[in-house]
Amino acid sequence: MKNIFIKNKYNADSHGHFEEYGGRYVPEMLIPALEEVERGYNEIKNDPVFMEELMDLFHNYSGRPTPLYFAKNLSDYLGGAKIFLKQEGLNHTGAHKINNCLGQALLAKKMGKKRLIAETGAGQHGVATATVAAKLKMKCKVYMGKVDYDRQRPNVFWMEQLGAEVVPVEHGTQRLKDAVTATLQDWIENVDDTFYLLGSALGPHPYPSMVRDFQTIIGLEVQKQLKEVYEIDRPDFIVACVGGGSNAIGIFNPYLEDEKVGLIGVEAGGKGVGKIGNHAARLQKDPKIGVVEGYKSYFLQDSDGQLQNTHSISAGLDYAGIGPEHALLWKKGRVKYQYAADKEVIAAFKLLAKKEGIIAALESSHAVAHAIDLAKKLDRNKNIVVNLSGRGDKDIFIIAKVLGDEKWKKFLKEESL
Ligand SMILES: *Cc1c(COP(=O)(O)O)cnc(C)c1O
Repeated sequence: MKNIFIKNKYNADSHGHFEEYGGRYVPEMLIPALEEVERGYNEIKNDPVFMEELMDLFHNYSGRPTPLYFAKNLSDYLGGAKIFLKQEGLNHTGAHKINNCLGQALLAKKMGKKRLIAETGAGQHGVATATVAAKLKMKCKVYMGKVDYDRQRPNVFWMEQLGAEVVPVEHGTQRLKDAVTATLQDWIENVDDTFYLLGSALGPHPYPSMVRDFQTIIGLEVQKQLKEVYEIDRPDFIVACVGGGSNAIGIFNPYLEDEKVGLIGVEAGGKGVGKIGNHAARLQKDPKIGVVEGYKSYFLQDSDGQLQNTHSISAGLDYAGIGPEHALLWKKGRVKYQYAADKEVIAAFKLLAKKEGIIAALESSHAVAHAIDLAKKLDRNKNIVVNLSGRGDKDIFIIAKVLGDEKWKKFLKEESL
């Protein structure tokens, strides 16, 4: 792959507006920092040396290209369309997040920065950031709400082992929102040597576009693999789960102008999309525009613009906002946004494990759940590509609990003695 930077008609304008969405709604003090990141990002787009170094890291450090695997057992069992799985879970650290972290960290290094800062909710982005900081010999500080910090001890432990300093944020609601505030404060104070490494295709310009570009490697590999391995010109459908939206936009991006390919994003339906607080499906019922965390998009909010509580069985999709490019693609009807409920997600997780020997992340299992429904309605000559954004090892605590595994409970008790 020589270049991941591709243009299409849905791209943001030079101010980061995806029509009415996106932009840069931040305090004046942050503008110079964002402009510096934007300049750096624009420079590397035409820098073959950067591209070569990034590809080397993708290839030799993260293990790319990840396989595009024909799930024959599952497809045969369902009796409909053929399902292909893009195995992002086989990346180093177990998910697509490392693509973006390697890209941004390499850019930070080119810009002469010595220190990476990030905020993380469940901790997956923190682990990926701490990983690339170690690899690229940079200092790393990760902010977490105190509530998340206490709940996510396994990820905090790994971040510490990787050499990062993890800071529990004790003010406000002690959640992700407060961690974002603390990270921005750190950035303002230390902008000379510090780079803010943002974890999904959202936030103020240029992050939504930049994160998309670093994740576009997923879609570009799918194009190549479909042709070279399976002699398929284009898939009929691509299905991906949507938290902030980075794995989805990464696999969709090369196909956005190819209208023959149906694109489907799957949101977290949680315990049902009917009730506030039970889900994280922002685009299902009467979406509401707002400006939060530096960008304009759709957010789960009440009439005063206060963010609503969300719920999902998967930590990675449990977020009230969605990246601005997805807002545009929804409005244009280019991508259809569906949802999967927790129960369907667990069923899909179990079926994939039994039929293919693949333990998928709960986030990715949302996409699998939708693909299972879709495949059943289609003929064998149709092809569905599912972005399997991560592997499920990290979810053992949640899944064993949901499945009520008694021996697991006993194991936890004995381990804690
Ligand atoms: C973080 C995460 C997601 C959600 O993030 P996006 O930016 O929407 O891709 C999805 N899948 C996995 C495995 C994750 O770790």
